Amino acid sequence: MSQTTILVVEDNYIQSQLLICILDKLGFHTEAANCVEAATNILDTKAIDAALVDWNLPDNSGLSLVEARVKDETCTTPFIIMTAYEEPERIKEALACGAFDFVHKPLKSLELDARLNCALRFASLQKKYLELAIRDPLTGTFNRRYLQQQTDLFFSTPKNSLTLALIDIDFFKKVNDTYGHDVGDMVLVQIARLLSSHLRIDDYVCRIGGEEFAIVFHNSNGDIATTIMERILQKARESSWGTRGSDLKVTFSCGVVSSEEANSDLFAMLKSADESLYWAKKHGRNQVVRSQCNLGIKASS
Ligand SMILES: [Mg+2]
Repeated sequence: MSQTTILVVEDNYIQSQLLICILDKLGFHTEAANCVEAATNILDTKAIDAALVDWNLPDNSGLSLVEARVKDETCTTPFIIMTAYEEPERIKEALACGAFDFVHKPLKSLELDARLNCALRFASLQKKYLELAIRDPLTGTFNRRYLQQQTDLFFSTPKNSLTLALIDIDFFKKVNDTYGHDVGDMVLVQIARLLSSHLRIDDYVCRIGGEEFAIVFHNSNGDIATTIMERILQKARESSWGTRGSDLKVTFSCGVVSSEEANSDLFAMLKSADESLYWAKKHGRNQVVRSQCNLGIKASS
């Protein structure tokens, strides 16, 4: 297991070194910053499991750092404010701005260890639940919530392009009715694996309905995505499905749309991809259809 990294944000050099020494003895790896700006750079670029933040820092208050970071709902780093202030109002202020906990200086090793472990336990649960919230439990792919989050992010500051492929397994109801729901589930897992194994590092698969998946391609136009989907469909035609020795054949129909063609939001892209998918279903299934708003629909295989 990799070592837990604690960020120490403290402008007093001696106090910082003392704290690093305590954390080292407790078995933690440390990163150090002496101001809000340096801490922000570390938090932006390194994996930090928890942060100990001094209240008073030369460029801004430690609380401002905490407040800025916890604004992001996906931030799972717990922040512990450390200060010599004794007044309960101060504790209230630190916790109200989003700090997980509060420790008084001078720091005691035993108390610090207990508080850090409590914060780390909380963060680990939070990470687990955040992960569960964006995953489909059967196939392990992302779900519709993740697709919405990621595309909202893309359309808030659109850079380059994004292509969406929507697929629907052909005659899936027949698979369930003929072979049973357990084999149907197996097919869903297999198709998710097949899709995931053909994608590039930035692309991702989401199960968005019963037998419907959306694949998002980053920085690629509709032609590239169409070629990739055709390659995957060909693999599906050649693969064996369900249990060993089964005669089951599985194909899918697919609609592809690029953000250059339906550049407004996920809803518009899904609608356009769905029209192409519907066209594919109506015209024999087992094919990838490219949606081109201005040029009409083009079947590609
Ligand atoms: Mg200070």
